Amino acid sequence: MSPARRSDVTTVDQAPGRSAPEGRAAFGVQVASGSSPIQEPDMIDHRRLGRELDLFVSDPLAGAGLPIWLPAGAAARHAVEEYVRELERRSGHQHVYSPPLGKRELFELSGHLGYFADDMFPPMRLSADDEFVLRPALCPHHALVFRARGRSYRELPLRIAELGGMYRSERSGVLGGLSRVRAISLNDAHTFCAPDQVGAEVARILRLIREAHAALGVRPAGLRLSLRGPGGKYVGDDAQWARAEELLRGALAGVDYVEAPGEAAFYGPKIDIQIMDAAGRESTISTIQVDFDKPERFDLSYTDSDGSRRRPVMLHRSLVGSMERLFAYLIEVHEGAFPAWYAPVQLVLLPVDDGQADAAAELARRAVDAGLRVEVDVAGSLGARVRDAARRRVPYLGVLGAREAADGRLALRLRGGRALDPMPAAAVLALIGGQVAARAADLLPAD
Ligand SMILES: [Zn+2]
Repeated sequence: MSPARRSDVTTVDQAPGRSAPEGRAAFGVQVASGSSPIQEPDMIDHRRLGRELDLFVSDPLAGAGLPIWLPAGAAARHAVEEYVRELERRSGHQHVYSPPLGKRELFELSGHLGYFADDMFPPMRLSADDEFVLRPALCPHHALVFRARGRSYRELPLRIAELGGMYRSERSGVLGGLSRVRAISLNDAHTFCAPDQVGAEVARILRLIREAHAALGVRPAGLRLSLRGPGGKYVGDDAQWARAEELLRGALAGVDYVEAPGEAAFYGPKIDIQIMDAAGRESTISTIQVDFDKPERFDLSYTDSDGSRRRPVMLHRSLVGSMERLFAYLIEVHEGAFPAWYAPVQLVLLPVDDGQADAAAELARRAVDAGLRVEVDVAGSLGARVRDAARRRVPYLGVLGAREAADGRLALRLRGGRALDPMPAAAVLALIGGQVAARAADLLPAD
């Protein structure tokens, strides 16, 4: 994935809502105090929910735009990362690790220092001929993955994926919570393919994006074809741009989309999958970009079936964008009440009194062994503990009284207040485990 031009600001991970005025980030985060006439309802501010639910913290000592994920936020993010990695694995991606910084020459070759330096941190100079750069995108490293050895047409499409760190030198005035940050963890992948494979690959990526959005509870707001605008700095020649545009239009045949001149990346046009935030503003988290330029710059080639050397096309894509921007959105759209599969704590067990404490601890051990995130809460009155679990948006609450403890049953309450009749503890764990494994949006099976 990679950056859009500075002038249009929009990138996969740092896109302001289209209707958001300058100086505001997406997702209802007011970033320039007192500068906007629009007042957001406090209830949909992910920063407030992030504090209340102990998801993340922004400490001035660590620096603006450099949030720290607390255990609850990290647990939710871990579940989402595992899901995305598995989805990618099943769809033919190969995962790599690459470092978040590299030599200056790497980013000169990629074009980032020529076209995107305003968004990058200044190079770090170790000696007169040794400078390092915090990367603003993963593409240069993934081009080196392709180049690591000779490639054959049989390997194409080659899909290289990574959830990787990258950095943007955002001005401190625009930073807010998770929606706009300086250290970014991007769900990214690059497909290297033959030109005649682009259409099928783009269609395939669009299907994956739809699948991921459905599982996470992301509400799509339509597709946007982002094209070159007048002026601005773009690499490549007109023929390359026309060809890339034609390929994306072909992939979008039969689908509704809007065109957005001036929203392209500096090296090629892209499809942006727009989402609607809780306040009704549109922004981008998922995107697909066609790039003829980086394969030229990195002199990438493969051996075709007739033995000739061919240049691959590079597709940049993100299914769910950066973890930061994704969670800024998810926290707000779900108001902190995540689907059970990525809820930080899925089940809280409440022994009615000390007599059931051992039974609750034993049941918690079984739940942990079954792969669930569970806590036992023994402090305070039952009513106060129920209210605390509701405040934390815990999806399942298991109440354990003397009678339930004696016959191995559990009275389950769902987030939202619905109480079920006591069930055998094993049936409760199977019910929750089933909903989590299915990554269901609802807390009970639909039957
Ligand atoms: Zn890229």
